Amino acid sequence: MTARILDGNAIRDQIYTELQPEIAELGAAGIRPGLAAVLVGHNPASEVYVRSKIAACEKLGLRSWLFAPAESVSTAEMLQLIGELNRRDDVDGILVQLPLPRQVDARRVLEAVDPAKDVDGFHPVSLGRLVRGEPGLVACTPSGVMEILRRNSIAIEGVPAVLLGRSDIVGKPMALLLLHANATVTICHSKTRDLPQIARRADLVIAAMGRPAMVMPDWIRTGATVIDVGINRISDPAEAARIFAKLPQRLEQFRQKGSALVGDVHPDVVEIAGAITPVPGGVGPLTIAMLMSNTIKAARLRRGQAAGATAASPASGH
Ligand code: NDP
Repeated sequence: MTARILDGNAIRDQIYTELQPEIAELGAAGIRPGLAAVLVGHNPASEVYVRSKIAACEKLGLRSWLFAPAESVSTAEMLQLIGELNRRDDVDGILVQLPLPRQVDARRVLEAVDPAKDVDGFHPVSLGRLVRGEPGLVACTPSGVMEILRRNSIAIEGVPAVLLGRSDIVGKPMALLLLHANATVTICHSKTRDLPQIARRADLVIAAMGRPAMVMPDWIRTGATVIDVGINRISDPAEAARIFAKLPQRLEQFRQKGSALVGDVHPDVVEIAGAITPVPGGVGPLTIAMLMSNTIKAARLRRGQAAGATAASPASGH
C-alpha cells in the first residue's frame, strides 16, 4: 500500500483562487489589505519565511511592509514599533517573526499586538476565542492543516486523533480545532510514555515535534492519515542515510547540497499510511495561505464586514 499524497501546493493555489474575488471586492470599496512583517536580526530560516510571506502578499496584490530592527533591539523599542503599527489604519495584520532575540520579552511583544490585527493568532485574546469556539483569527499552521483535511474529505468527527507536540503555536491550537470538529484528541509531548503505542491507536496522527523523521512506520495504523508539520534541516550524513535509505535520489541531493529538509515523519511511513503530507510541499504552503486569508479576514472584520468563507471557523463542528 502506498499512501495518497496530500498536496499542499495545490490546496494553496486553490485558496488563492478563492481569495481573488474577495480581494477584488475589497479593492472596489477602496480597501487594499496590508500586512506588516517584523523580522529581527538575521536568522536564515526566519528570513526565508518572511520573504515567502511578503512574496505571497505581492502575488495576491496585498500591501506589505518589512520592518527589520537590529538584533540588539530592546523590548521597549519593539513595543514602540508594535504600538505604531497598531495605530496605522493601512496596516491590517501584524506579524512578528519568531524566534526573537533573548533580550526581548517575546510574550510582552505578542501581547502588545492589537488582537484585531493578530493575523498569526498568537495573542491571548485570539487563543481565548479559539478555546471557546468563537470566530476569530486562528493560528495559521493549525488552520492550514484543517484545510488539508477538509479539502481532501478526510473524516474528523468521532475519529481518534493523536497530536505529537503541544506547543502554543501548533500543538495546542491544533488540538482545539480538532476538538471543535468533534475528533477524540490525545495530546502527546516529551514526557509521554510509549509514544508509538499511543500513535498506533489513531486514525489521524499529526506530528509537530521538531524531531527529524522520528515517527516510524510501526507507529502508524495501516490506512491512517498522517500530517507532518515538522520542518527540520539535517546535515549529518549518517542521519540522511537512515532517513533516505529507500530514496536514492534524495540521498544524492543531500550529498550534493550537504543538507536536506525533512519532516518529523520517516519517509517509509508512506508504505503504511492511507494519506500523508510531504515535506516540503505539505503543511508549509498552507501556513502562508492561511496568513493571507487571515490578513484579508482582519481587513474585513476591522471595518465591520463579515469575514469570507475560506478560513475554517473554529466552531465549524458544532
Ligand atoms: P516546539 O519546539 O515549540 O514544540 C515541540 C513540541 O514537541 C513540544 O510540545 C515538545 O514537548 C514535543 N516534543 C519534542 N520532542 C519530543 C519527543 N522526543 N517526544 C515527544 N514529544 C516531543 O516546536 P513547534 O511546535 O514550534 O514546531 C514543531 C515543528 O513544526 C518544527 O519542526 C517546526 O519547524 C515545524 N513548524 C512548521 C510549520 C509549517 O508551516 N509547516 C510552522 C511552525 C512550525 P514538550 O512540550 O514536553 O517540550
